[in-house]
Amino acid sequence: MMNFWGSEWMDSSNSTEILDRRRLSEAWYKKTIIEMFTEYNIDDKIEFIKSDKIEALLVFHVEKLWKGFSKKWSSSFHTDNCKHTECSKAIIIDGHMKGTRSVCAARGVQYVESKELGTVEMGCWKMPCKGSMYCQDHKNLQMQDHKAPVAKEYDNEEDSTDCKTLKEKGPLIKCKTAGICASVYNCGIINGMKELYGCESLTQVYMFLVWLAKELLHFPNLLAYDDACHLKKFIINPLRAIKSQYSQFLAALRIVVDKMHFANHVDKWCRRNVNPYTDEQFKNINTEACEQTFQFVAKYKYSIQLNICHMENIICSC
Ligand SMILES: [Zn+2]
Ligand SMILES: [Zn+2]
Ligand SMILES: [Zn+2]
Repeated sequence: MMNFWGSEWMDSSNSTEILDRRRLSEAWYKKTIIEMFTEYNIDDKIEFIKSDKIEALLVFHVEKLWKGFSKKWSSSFHTDNCKHTECSKAIIIDGHMKGTRSVCAARGVQYVESKELGTVEMGCWKMPCKGSMYCQDHKNLQMQDHKAPVAKEYDNEEDSTDCKTLKEKGPLIKCKTAGICASVYNCGIINGMKELYGCESLTQVYMFLVWLAKELLHFPNLLAYDDACHLKKFIINPLRAIKSQYSQFLAALRIVVDKMHFANHVDKWCRRNVNPYTDEQFKNINTEACEQTFQFVAKYKYSIQLNICHMENIICSC
C-alpha cells in the first residue's frame, strides 16, 4: 500500500476525495493571471477569479496584457540577464497555423482604423455557436449576405515576384483563424504575439509589426520572415512608407528571408534583396528562433498562450 507523504489524498479506497490534477492546474493558472494583472498594473485588487469567468476576463484585458508582456521582455529585464552572445540583435516573425480555432463567419462587421493602412476590415473573432457558422451576435446573418470580399490586400507591386510564398494564395478556410503570428528575438525570447483572422495576410502581419514598433522598448534593425519578399515590397511601397513614423521605421529595417525557407525564394529580386546569406549582419543570427520556440507554444489555446509564452521566456532565460 502507498505510504508516502500525501498518499492518503490519492487513495480513493478510504473515501477521501482525490485532488483532481485539473483543479491543481487551474489553481496555478489563476495564480499566474493574478500575478500578471498585478505586474502589468491592470488590477491589483483581484483576489478571486470564478472559473467560468477566466476566459471573459482575459479577453477583456488581452490588449493590456500583451502590451505589458511586450514591454517587459523588450526591456533591460531581459537584456541585462540574457546570456546569449547576440542578444536581441534581430527579430524573427512567423505565422503558425497550428493554433487555429473556429471563428464566426461574419464579414464586414468590424473595422479598424489604421494610420498606415486606412480602414481595415477584420473578421469577427468570436466563437461560432454550436451547429452554426456564426457567433451569438451574428447568428441571424446569412452566408450570402456576408461573403468575404475579394480582398485586394496587396498591390501588384508586392505580387510581382516568382516566389510562391504569398500566404493569401495558399488554401485557406475562411471561417477559421490562421492561428497566431509570433515575434521572437534571435536569442529565443518571445516579445509579442497576435492572433490572425482569415489568413496570415500581409495586412495583418504589417499591422502586427506597427504594433510592435509602438510597444517594444527595443526593436533592432534586423528582421527575418519566411515570406520576406512580399512583406518587404509591402513595407517599402513609397505611398505606405510615408504614412507615419512607424511606417518609416519599418521601411528602414533590413529584412531577409529566414535561412531555412530561403531555398523556396527563386526570384532574382529575392536573391538580391532579401538574401540572409549575403547580408553580413545576419551571419551569426539564428533566423529559426521563432520556429523553434513556437513549436511548443502553438499547441495551446490562444487564450492561455500568454501564460505559456511567459513560462517559455522564463525557462529560456535561465
Ligand atoms: Zn536575449
Ligand atoms: Zn460574429
Ligand atoms: Zn521571394
